[in-house]
Amino acid sequence: MATEKEVLDSMRHIIDPDLGKDIVSLGFIKNLAIDGGKVSFTVELTTPACPVKETFRTKCVEAVSALPGVSSVDVKMSAMERKPRPGSDVNTLENVDAVIAVSSCKGGVGKSTVAAHLARAMQRSGLAVGLLDADVYGPSVPTLFNAYHPAVGMVDNKIQPVRIDGLKVMSLGFLLGEQPAVLRGPIVSNYITQILRQTDWGKLDYLIIDLPPGTGDIQLTIVQQAALDGAIIVTTPQALSLVDVARGILMFEKVSVPVLGVVENMCSFTCGDCGTVHFPFGSSRSSLQKRFGLSTLAELPIMDGLADLSHKDSGKDIPAIAEMADQVHRAVGKSRVEAPDRPEVALAGDTIQVKWSDGHTAGLSMYEVRCACPCAVCVDENTGEKLLDPEQVPQDISVESMQQLGNYAVSFAWSDAHTTGIYSWDYLRELAERGSKATV
Ligand code: ADP
Repeated sequence: MATEKEVLDSMRHIIDPDLGKDIVSLGFIKNLAIDGGKVSFTVELTTPACPVKETFRTKCVEAVSALPGVSSVDVKMSAMERKPRPGSDVNTLENVDAVIAVSSCKGGVGKSTVAAHLARAMQRSGLAVGLLDADVYGPSVPTLFNAYHPAVGMVDNKIQPVRIDGLKVMSLGFLLGEQPAVLRGPIVSNYITQILRQTDWGKLDYLIIDLPPGTGDIQLTIVQQAALDGAIIVTTPQALSLVDVARGILMFEKVSVPVLGVVENMCSFTCGDCGTVHFPFGSSRSSLQKRFGLSTLAELPIMDGLADLSHKDSGKDIPAIAEMADQVHRAVGKSRVEAPDRPEVALAGDTIQVKWSDGHTAGLSMYEVRCACPCAVCVDENTGEKLLDPEQVPQDISVESMQQLGNYAVSFAWSDAHTTGIYSWDYLRELAERGSKATV
């Protein structure tokens, strides 16, 4: 008869591709029972929509079946309980597994198009999905889905979302019709609160919320009320402003919502004559990764036909859209477990102490870290030229508070009132290495 240790050891080569660790060390194997030759256990994944679910199951069965004395292997797949979220008292969201906001710093970058295609793509992969169009400045769902005046019903004082091919959809546009934004201003926030609190979403794997563009009070109110699991920032390479992205990250982090990554829209186009793919504005993938430690979830080309989502197969043949949905599932799963390699950061006197998971430690001078602030106020985002004059930074500058940003970075509030700097883990490491070279 196989022992518990043998069973677990046989699965230690199965690596979660997103967390970079094996599923046994990550604690995914639960309820292991061995009864003679019969082995049963549960693999507890980060989200029910985990894209590698079937691969894990197959690999687990293969590994354990190969042990001497094992005659049958029964594997159940389950998902871990969600952490309580800020605002999760919103009772109509209690059966929603993950609430994701799609945001943008500016209008017209394709945020609503991305949100709607994400919802369609997730639904195509068999998930229960809702789409809430909360864009007060221009609700797009009626146009995208060609659903202008659907009847919105109420049951037991709850708004019933409109069903479009099984997708549950609710839009401010369904309630407001075509009134100009200026007239509806005062009532808009009431509508949003009502929609958020009273829409009967039922059981969903994902609720996607299409936020109004920008990072003002309206957005913050929605983010606070909606009990979000994560946010996606949509941008286009030509509209990409690192100041705006930083503002978005800081807005979400204010209410403890991790930014899952960035979707770069309208990055490229394919020449109809010769088939060459052109990137007229270059790619920002590396600068987003370097500046903020943020992943690029998808790079979508400029394409015809994206604006029509009225058919359930809209976007089906576009690989970048399926890939985007896949990356979002993965990012949600990743955000639900503490990053195994997240460094520990502590403040001690005039230094910032950092301990990385590989055991490397460094004491960084607060003055040096402040002078090396990578934000767009301190460094020109286009030329990389340093704008901050170190002479202007007080030698006795200190950190008044710090905040871990999801699993990817940390931000500091400095005693000179500067708060916009976001330091990715890689950047802190680079500063530590620069510092140690300087002292050699
Ligand atoms: P936002 O929600 O950011 O204001 P929309 O989703 O309404 O932006 O998109 C603005 C316009 O750009 C729409 O006409 C939309 O069809 C178009 N669009 C968005 N993404 C793409 C793309 N990848 N290729 C071509 N057109 C696009």
